[in-house]
Amino acid sequence: MSGAVGGAKGSWHPSDRIRLPPLFPGHCTMCGAEVTGRRPDGSRKEFCSRQCIRRFDKLTRKHGQRLLRLALYWRLHRGRKGTPGQGRQSDMAALADYALLELRT
Ligand SMILES: [Zn+2]
Repeated sequence: MSGAVGGAKGSWHPSDRIRLPPLFPGHCTMCGAEVTGRRPDGSRKEFCSRQCIRRFDKLTRKHGQRLLRLALYWRLHRGRKGTPGQGRQSDMAALADYALLELRT
C-alpha cells in the first residue's frame, strides 16, 4: 500500500528513535530482582540475567504479533465507531494488563 500512514520505508526505522527506560527502574522487568549497573550506552540495565532476557523475549513473541495487529487496526481506523478499529485501544490495554500479570511470576 503506497502512501501508507507513517511515510517512507527504507533505512530509517521508528525503533531508531524510540528509547524506552526500564519498565521498573532498578528492578528486573521479568523477575523483580534488584538490578544495578549500566549498559555500554550508559542507560540502566533492565534485566538481572540472560534467563530473564530470554523469558521476556518469549513473552513479547507470545503477545507481540497480536498487539501489533490490534495497533494497526486502531491506527488505520482511529478507533472510529462502526469500524474494525473500534475498541482496539481497550483491547491493547487488556492485552498489556494480561502480559503484566505474567511478569514477576
Ligand atoms: Zn530477573
